[in-house]
Amino acid sequence: MRVLLVGGGGREHALALGLAGDPAVEALVAAPGNPGIAAVAELREVTPTDPAAVAALAVEVAADLVVIGPEAPLVAGVADAVRAKGIAVFGPSAEAARLEGSKTFAKDVMTAAGVPTARAYTCEDAAAVAHALDEFGAPYVVKDDGLAAGKGVVVTDDRAAAERHAAECGRVVIEEYLSGPEVSLFVVTDGEAAVPLLPAQDFKRVGDGDTGPNTGGMGAYTPLPWTPPNLVDDVMRDVVHPTLAELRRRGTPFAGLLYVGLAITPSGPRVIEFNARFGDPETQVVLALLETPLGGLLHAAATGTLGAHPPLRWRDGAAVTVVVAADGYPAGPRTGDVITGADRAGIIHAGTRRDADGTLRSAGGRVLCGTATGPDLAAARDAAYELVRDVELAGSHYRTDIAAAAVDGRITIPG
Ligand code: AMP
Repeated sequence: MRVLLVGGGGREHALALGLAGDPAVEALVAAPGNPGIAAVAELREVTPTDPAAVAALAVEVAADLVVIGPEAPLVAGVADAVRAKGIAVFGPSAEAARLEGSKTFAKDVMTAAGVPTARAYTCEDAAAVAHALDEFGAPYVVKDDGLAAGKGVVVTDDRAAAERHAAECGRVVIEEYLSGPEVSLFVVTDGEAAVPLLPAQDFKRVGDGDTGPNTGGMGAYTPLPWTPPNLVDDVMRDVVHPTLAELRRRGTPFAGLLYVGLAITPSGPRVIEFNARFGDPETQVVLALLETPLGGLLHAAATGTLGAHPPLRWRDGAAVTVVVAADGYPAGPRTGDVITGADRAGIIHAGTRRDADGTLRSAGGRVLCGTATGPDLAAARDAAYELVRDVELAGSHYRTDIAAAAVDGRITIPG
């Protein structure tokens, strides 16, 4: 199987490692890729959000499967353009990707499918915003309606800050605050059959103890020792299958990766958000434990044959990833700084570039992450921190508490 992987972040580096490790994958091309991916794939230039360009590249490299990593190409219709060439693609159509591309659309689907989620209003002017904030009270949850790379959400007790964010975004979804620990559940689906991966937890805030602004994600771990035993079965029954059925009913089946972001509240799991692709950095830890060959799994989802795919196999133990971010991230990351200590197994590249002389430099806010496995969460955590401690990048920072509460048994579901 010849595979074209679209994207160039940490998620795509993790996907590339998984695909390159599948004996059925005889050639792997990544576009645009990154210096980490370059070790396992041929890199090609492409604008990932240009449907015609990606489809032409898929034809040129004779891809049997195209895997689309980020959300922007999906929302732009890249999967549709590739499918129109008769090439199998892992990633939903633009219509189905609206599950991520529009928070209002997602709420509409959830309501129609009876999926448990926060009550919400879509607001387009100050009066509607004030009404919604009054109804739900603090903490206020204000979300940009469109794609915002995980940074369009403000959760705050400060009413003025909530109103300011709403005014800056224009069209927003304001919703009820959900209390409880969060879970990311990835589900591979061909639109009908659906296979859950291991639940993971990510860390959205920039600072230790969940302080500071939201980011794209500062770290992750899997599995989650503290979740209720039936969590995955319940979410498949109450969330995933009703959502997939609703999208089939609308004539826009969702095939690809359905990312279910959940809060485990006292009244059970509630959906915080859907995404239409693998999450970053949870992918790094989930794929680190997946033993089943990744190419075959994604190909089955892309060709409507997932129902016939054998059950997934997982490695024992745990995986932890810790993101190293650039100076100034998330507000205004500085780029162009030299990185040393990063050319080793377990370092996943996200925002890096390499000079002609081989020097590695920062090229984004989340620069790289250290991903490690171990016989248990404590061992995986120690190994991940050992990796990032050896990386040198001026002004960089990382959270020191990734997976710490889980290791210490401090995560509880409020009752
Ligand atoms: P989203 O982009 O929708 O995942 O939101 C980003 C982060 O904001 C989530 O991971 C949560 O930590 C937080 N968040 C979003 N919606 C809610 C909510 N209704 N209640 C509490 N926290 C929320």
